[in-house]
Amino acid sequence: MEPGFQPHQAEAQVARLQAVFSRQRAAWAAAPYPGREERRQALVSLREALLRHADEFCAAISADFGHRSAHETRVLELFPCIEGIRHAEKSLKKWMKSERRPVSKWFMPASNTLIAQPLGVVGIIVPWNYPLYLAIGPLTSALAAGNRVMLKMSEFTPRTGELLARVLSECFHEDQVVAFNGGVEVAQVFSSQPFDHILFTGSTSVGKHVMRAASEHLTPVTLELGGKSPTLVGPEFSVKTAAERILHGKCLNAGQTCVAPDYVFVPEARLAEFVEAAKVAVNGWYPNLPANPDYSAVINERHRHRLEGYLTDAKAQGATIIPLVEGDCSHTGKMAPTIVTGVSDAMKIMQDEIFGPLLPVMTYRNFDEAIAYVNAHPRPLALYLFDYDRERISYVLSHTISGGVALNETVVHVAQDDLPFGGVGPSGMGAYHGKEGFDTFSKKKGVFAQSRVNGLSLLRPPYGKTIETMIKFMLR
Ligand code: NAD
Repeated sequence: MEPGFQPHQAEAQVARLQAVFSRQRAAWAAAPYPGREERRQALVSLREALLRHADEFCAAISADFGHRSAHETRVLELFPCIEGIRHAEKSLKKWMKSERRPVSKWFMPASNTLIAQPLGVVGIIVPWNYPLYLAIGPLTSALAAGNRVMLKMSEFTPRTGELLARVLSECFHEDQVVAFNGGVEVAQVFSSQPFDHILFTGSTSVGKHVMRAASEHLTPVTLELGGKSPTLVGPEFSVKTAAERILHGKCLNAGQTCVAPDYVFVPEARLAEFVEAAKVAVNGWYPNLPANPDYSAVINERHRHRLEGYLTDAKAQGATIIPLVEGDCSHTGKMAPTIVTGVSDAMKIMQDEIFGPLLPVMTYRNFDEAIAYVNAHPRPLALYLFDYDRERISYVLSHTISGGVALNETVVHVAQDDLPFGGVGPSGMGAYHGKEGFDTFSKKKGVFAQSRVNGLSLLRPPYGKTIETMIKFMLR
């Protein structure tokens, strides 16, 4: 439970969410198929409200983090929200269109059609690291698909959560879209409602609780989880370019990004060059980093301790810690981007998802060693490869499995509206964004329509010569 959140407030939230769920259900039953114009209007008012309140979102997120650059919030949260909504507005007609499917010759001249139907009332559970984008992204998909939506915001971002709840109440009636705030207690009650679908974004461990709770009602889940995203630098790729692109992806939001490069493999002979290039890049972007407003803070004391613990543990087991900038961050809530070399799987930093600005850099002599390492570990959310060699690219794509891949870049594959986003195995199940998001929140219902004149009567009893002749053809 977040500081200042009293038990009676949690009880009130729980009672309210149960009442709202019933009202949303009743509203859905009364109007189960909102038309295209109604959905488009919902998306337009959401987009306009976000733009109207952009400054307040930047301020609220920064206050929740202890500091987050307003530029980062605009580029990493508001921009993909607005782009995603625009893409949905433009694509609604195509997505909603029913689809004719072929009929086998045995059933002609009947017809087959696939129609997309709103599921009903869906629940969206939001983490703290990108509290706006990870609420609005799934909400966009759910609204495009014609659903009613309840969101549960993270207890670590209470200001952003309160603001979003207020902004959503400006555009939507409570029986259409509503956001709830509160701690784990509220989250548990939230995930145990008989939703028609739950999309959860958060840690793999909490994802298991959500799936367990959802299984009580056989509520389908989309789990957007985390993990350690590997980054491979090919033998001939420019180490300077790779270091810049990797460190850029790592330093955004101080590494608190589900698809941040978690660890890197570089050719053994080029480790020193990589570390040097990383230092130059980071110092160029963030001079006087402790006081630099472009660099974000670590969300809270608990996470700073967790990250410091990784360094202490790695050092005690023989790793080398290389801070990329000078200066003491300890009084600022920030943490310096830091490379760790000489790591092993016995270290906590190589076991947990790092989710902060620490970057283990490992080396290979033969590129296959790096692939073997990746494949010996849980399936990641993202994989990054820096290489222009077509054969190696094709080999890596076909011999590793991950939620998504970016070649010669990090992180920005998430912002591609026409690519599905979702993990595999411990990094998640299902996907959203664009068309896949629409499909995730739709029931794709197959409809078979019999024609006035048809041959199915020939298969009815009493069985005799006609059906025997037909069976000969059917089973040949
Ligand atoms: P978290 O799992 O601790 O919390 C996420 C949400 O779940 C919060 O709203 C929280 O209140 C709620 N929750 C907590 N306990 C619950 C319970 N028992 N039942 C139901 N809900 C519960 O995650 P976090 O610390 O907020 O976020 C960090 C994690 O999220 C990282 O692992 C990161 O990789 C992952 N993440 C994944 C994506 C993605 O798109 N795949 C995006 C961002 C973050």
